[in-house]
Amino acid sequence: MTTTIKGANYKTGDSIEVQIVDNLISQIVGHPSENSSQIIAPGLVDLQVNGFKGIDLNSGELTEDEVIQITQFLWEEGVTAFLPTLITNSSAKIESAIDAIVQACDKKVLVGKSILGIHLEGPFLSKEDGPRGAHPMEHIQNPDWQLFSEWQERSGNRIKKITLAPELPGAVEFIGRCAEVGVLVSLGHTAASPEKIQEAVKAGAKMSTHLGNAAHLSLPRHPNYIWEQLASDELWISLIADGFHLPESVIKVFTKVKPNTSILVSDSTKFAGLSAGTYSSHIGGDIELSTEGRLFMKRSPELLAGSAQSLLGCVNHMMKSDLANLPTAIDMASLKPMELMSGTLQKLNSKSPTDIVVFEKGKSGLSVIKTFKSGQLVFTR
Ligand SMILES: [Zn+2]
Repeated sequence: MTTTIKGANYKTGDSIEVQIVDNLISQIVGHPSENSSQIIAPGLVDLQVNGFKGIDLNSGELTEDEVIQITQFLWEEGVTAFLPTLITNSSAKIESAIDAIVQACDKKVLVGKSILGIHLEGPFLSKEDGPRGAHPMEHIQNPDWQLFSEWQERSGNRIKKITLAPELPGAVEFIGRCAEVGVLVSLGHTAASPEKIQEAVKAGAKMSTHLGNAAHLSLPRHPNYIWEQLASDELWISLIADGFHLPESVIKVFTKVKPNTSILVSDSTKFAGLSAGTYSSHIGGDIELSTEGRLFMKRSPELLAGSAQSLLGCVNHMMKSDLANLPTAIDMASLKPMELMSGTLQKLNSKSPTDIVVFEKGKSGLSVIKTFKSGQLVFTR
């Protein structure tokens, strides 16, 4: 079956026609005379998703149907690949979430193709206030290879990324073992010394999770763990560019230091994609979602309660704030995270699997018209 998609190439602005045969791009042809208001881009790739539109991957009661549903919700936002992110929790709850993800991947082929793997964020994190963020103290522990191996086996080797604090006892050795078996190690929720960060990099750590967040409110001017991670050329960084987690000046500087190794993540909670209002949360107390999309504790409005933006919201924030142009913002949320996960740079070209989004550009930024996953139309507005 042949499908054709017409629109402007997101990189060049040239009018193109993408022809899909048997779920692969067969060719891309130019149409210089046509003028299209629609933009053709690679599907977005989100390496940190905790929830979306009412579904919480960490509720402890995650079902297979919810995993299928959240994948559909993300397709609607232009996300064609993602890492469901399981945070610090009891072993039993982590295991039941793993089971639900595995069942969903086995049940629906396109869900299995959209879930690149599981991102385990915790429980091997810092206990210090600030670096710990909202991770529950009682379940935080030191790295335990035996326990991790049990989870990995249960997941069918689907754990592809782990965020940990390298200063914990045994962490550097643990990082080495992850690197050996191809699990991406990302430093995060950490209060590590510069020396420890360097040891972690030598052992194979490749990334920093949401750099600049989950940190102490005050740090020594230098040295400190933010400078050290920024200065380590081996480390990619992820940024929560939702407009609330990082000031624009910080995003500007971080992306200038790492122009080719900065990626965007949503770090979205279940409140992302919901309408403004007050909600109750199991992490404690009422939560308010403002019309601007800021999610905060009702009792202490200065405290953020997680992210309520989709990855597309972050792409739009980067463009609106002049932090990146359209092709760069999209690459940071699509080809770049894919490159980090797969080790190879992919492009929109012939013979590549067709994860494509057709966007329309309006006053508030890009919105999704159509999403193709592996060449199949999975969403149309
Ligand atoms: Zn985090």
